[in-house]
Amino acid sequence: LAGRSFRPEGTVVTFPNGVKVGGDEVVVMAGPCSVESREQIFTAASQVKAAGAKFLRGGAFKPRSSPYSFQGMGLDGLKLLREVGDTTGLLIISEVMEISQIEVMLPYVDCFQLGARNMQNFNLLREVGLVRKPVLLKRGIAATIEELLLSAEYVLSGGNYDVMLCERGIRTYETYTRNTMDISAIPVIKHLSHLPILGDPSHGTGRRDMVPAMARASVAAGADGLLIEVHPNPDKAVSDGAQSLFPQQFSKLMDELRIIAPAV
Ligand code: PEP
Ligand code: MN
Repeated sequence: LAGRSFRPEGTVVTFPNGVKVGGDEVVVMAGPCSVESREQIFTAASQVKAAGAKFLRGGAFKPRSSPYSFQGMGLDGLKLLREVGDTTGLLIISEVMEISQIEVMLPYVDCFQLGARNMQNFNLLREVGLVRKPVLLKRGIAATIEELLLSAEYVLSGGNYDVMLCERGIRTYETYTRNTMDISAIPVIKHLSHLPILGDPSHGTGRRDMVPAMARASVAAGADGLLIEVHPNPDKAVSDGAQSLFPQQFSKLMDELRIIAPAV
């Protein structure tokens, strides 16, 4: 079902407000790694919206490497996301980490994000295949493109055809960047699959100074959209501050992207 031949014309995921991912326009999803407070998320939302983002991202349930790191605001974070989404008109994307959260999140999000660490959580994949809400499936830290497509197959085979894929960098021997952004995965996935593919240059590099170049490269390589971390005050971010853009940097990047893809 994930193969290109199933839908040679390509999948377009259409959201209730008419935003389409996989069509002619490059769609940008931006916002902080984590929802931290009411003030933080409302400020971030107005900043990314002003720059042209169509989605606000923000984690309420966070997959942290250490159990002692901030784990997310949970339900309170989801409520803030919904409120800010309704206020600004931005679509809301947030990560679901386990099956029990699907039901909890349904009223609050417009799109489920499945994180790199859960790309092969097959039970979770099956369950999101049963809901009728779009899913952004991120490539696992050490997953091949074929494994990513097989994971998408789990969701599609449940009947949920609104699946978007995301290249977010893979772990290699290179340590200069947090992960190695596999730009070539974008044209490969375009060739092998009909599903929209987004680039995540934030997790792909782990470094704010490298994010714009990899964002532009993703779009030049044919990405249907981008997932970018932006924080009103990155130095104070509770997670992923080092890779979060300052709002002015994001706005400048959006202007640059419009030169590559006029519809951004
Ligand atoms: C995130 O988007 O904040 C995140 C945790 O991403 P990933 O699953 O790609 O690490
Ligand atoms: Mn993050």
